[in-house]
Amino acid sequence: MITSKVADNVYMVDTVALGRPGSVAAYVLKGSKVALVDCGYATSSGTVLEGLRELGITPSEVDYVVPTHVHLDHAGGAGELIRHMPRAKVIAQERGVPHLVDPTRLIQSATSVFGEATIDAYGRPTGIDKERILAVGEELHVDLGGLSFTALHAPGHAPHQISIYVGERKVLIAADAVGAVYPSVPVVMPVTPPPSLDPEQLGRTTDRLAQLDAETLLAPHFGVRTDVRHVLEETKKKTREWIATVRPLRQSGSSLDDVAAALRKQVSEESGVSEKDFPTYADVSIRISAMGILHFLEKNQ
Ligand SMILES: [Zn+2]
Repeated sequence: MITSKVADNVYMVDTVALGRPGSVAAYVLKGSKVALVDCGYATSSGTVLEGLRELGITPSEVDYVVPTHVHLDHAGGAGELIRHMPRAKVIAQERGVPHLVDPTRLIQSATSVFGEATIDAYGRPTGIDKERILAVGEELHVDLGGLSFTALHAPGHAPHQISIYVGERKVLIAADAVGAVYPSVPVVMPVTPPPSLDPEQLGRTTDRLAQLDAETLLAPHFGVRTDVRHVLEETKKKTREWIATVRPLRQSGSSLDDVAAALRKQVSEESGVSEKDFPTYADVSIRISAMGILHFLEKNQ
């Protein structure tokens, strides 16, 4: 089973990113209409369709595909998925729309960050017809019949991010407005990839999301949490702490490897989990977050 029930009519799909369970989640909201929130990598599309099948949903029954932001682990599969979903509209933040329509620059930028081989493994997104996209500015409410959700602009991790709030269930699908929360590493790890980390905005976003009084938090990386305020506050706090760790290292000319090693050590000490027991995806995520913080400090010295 790659799906599980989170609340009435709310389900999680493990996209088994790059063959690894427990690293990238998508979520399904099922009223009389169906919404898929997040898509996983392009190479995870088959798994996401399998997850929907497991939930008894055929692709033609999906009404909305909602990539929370255009990063490849969230939106990479959107173009491929909607080829199988004739009536699905794509809901995305307006700043992300141009990248969904023409992902060329996004692919170039991701390739410069991750390298060609990694992008091969993630898969390259295919462009989406503009006519199929509903753009969200600050907020958009969508009625699914028996269930509804609000897409809220949630910048900080990326300017083109939305979080999804399902008011009837008090469920928040935060996207990367929350750090990574792996069950096996009991600390919140900021997810701060280059190029558009904005810690001030991220703090405002986590504060705003905390005011929703959600009782369940669904994290893309990874899973269900009930300590919603704690995770939101820790995301804000740890992001500041990681920047404080990286700043002097950068000033003394440390390499990316050294910076990533320092953050790994910090996570290990705080969590009591040995670095060799970190999930692979967490290791990769820490390194990419180190890159993002270095890039942020470069721009804001
Ligand atoms: Zn992500």
